[in-house]
Amino acid sequence: MPDFDVKKIREDFPILKRFINGKPLIYFDNAATTQKPQYVLDSVDNYYKNLNSNVHRGVHTLSEEATNEYESARESIRKYINAGKSSEIIFVRGTTEAINLVASSFGSEFFNAGDEIIISAIEHHSNIVPWQMLCERKNAKLKVIPVDDGGEILIDEYKKLLTEKTKLVSVVHISNALGTQNPVKEIIQIAHNAGVPVMIDGAQSIQHSKIDVRELDVDFFAFSGHKVYAHTGIGVLYGKESLLNKMPPYHGGGEMIKSVSFEKTIYNDLPYKFEAGTPNIEGPISLKSAFEYIENIGLSKIEQYEDELLEYATNRLSEIKNIRFIGTAKEKKSVVSFLCGDIHPYDTGTILNNLGIAVRTGHHCAEPIMKRFNIPGTVRASFSFYNTKEEIDLLIEGIIKANKMLS
Ligand code: PLP
Repeated sequence: MPDFDVKKIREDFPILKRFINGKPLIYFDNAATTQKPQYVLDSVDNYYKNLNSNVHRGVHTLSEEATNEYESARESIRKYINAGKSSEIIFVRGTTEAINLVASSFGSEFFNAGDEIIISAIEHHSNIVPWQMLCERKNAKLKVIPVDDGGEILIDEYKKLLTEKTKLVSVVHISNALGTQNPVKEIIQIAHNAGVPVMIDGAQSIQHSKIDVRELDVDFFAFSGHKVYAHTGIGVLYGKESLLNKMPPYHGGGEMIKSVSFEKTIYNDLPYKFEAGTPNIEGPISLKSAFEYIENIGLSKIEQYEDELLEYATNRLSEIKNIRFIGTAKEKKSVVSFLCGDIHPYDTGTILNNLGIAVRTGHHCAEPIMKRFNIPGTVRASFSFYNTKEEIDLLIEGIIKANKMLS
């Protein structure tokens, strides 16, 4: 892409200057977590150097300033995902906590024995286990949309799974294990036609494409800051106010109350009802600056460049004789998962690490889909806009070398 200056962008990420095993770091583990630009690191540094104080409780200047930063971050994040109200932005630790919150709170309010929840076969464990726990508590039933051999979910099968007992559909937007991009708008529409709300796990989509929660008409949307160039320990649960207002608090403690007596506690309004205790204050500040950083480059440019990288990597990998792609959906983003013949992914990953190349190996917290393909795991390279085609060429060289050593 001619107007995308990747060389300049790379300068923004201090960690990319590192050497690993004597070789320049090539970081292809972006689906696990992304690296942080100096702009984001500085925002948190500035917070601790100049503003650090607890929020919402003080009349003193520092507390007011910290509160303003924290709440203005909520407002920027609202704008970024085009939510209607900042009270619909709940700060959580990450996608996992967001899903647990909904499973616990929505689950306790709306699920009864015999009710059903629908997920898909390509979910991350964090969009499986909380629902299994809910099913155990409520004696409810988990139903799973199957996928075809390319890792695409079967929409007709999904339609058949919806019944009057379905209380929620919760599916991943982009699979971390295969890269499949689900047709979430269609999935939401189908559920809504049956009167069923939908939760989308956006852990792998927020960093790659425009998310507009109102355009999607999604009921709950979850993502993690660390996967979108912000710090760990912060994430967002977006929820429609009409639903969040009907749901009981998740955790109890300070912040989530209006008044407390031994006889009766009155809970706070949204979003605080779901934010018990001192929050992660630096997290929203970090996330706000990560979104600013992305907007400064331009999300559509980022998306186009990352799509080019994925296409280039897929084509180059196809040249390797014993390559077996796992996940060949038509719509994919930023992830290639593969095996080389019968070589164990761990062995390929270890040799690549010796060459300074970070890929992820294993089941990627998505054991059921690995079982579906009858494999123990894959080698996964996942791309970000700071990666280059030259790095992909080195990955290919590394895989060829690993194949020679291991075959
Ligand atoms: N969902 C998907 C698709 C993911 O890729 C991940 C993390 O890899 C998660 C959920 C969980 O995210 P976190 O560990 O940040 O809570």
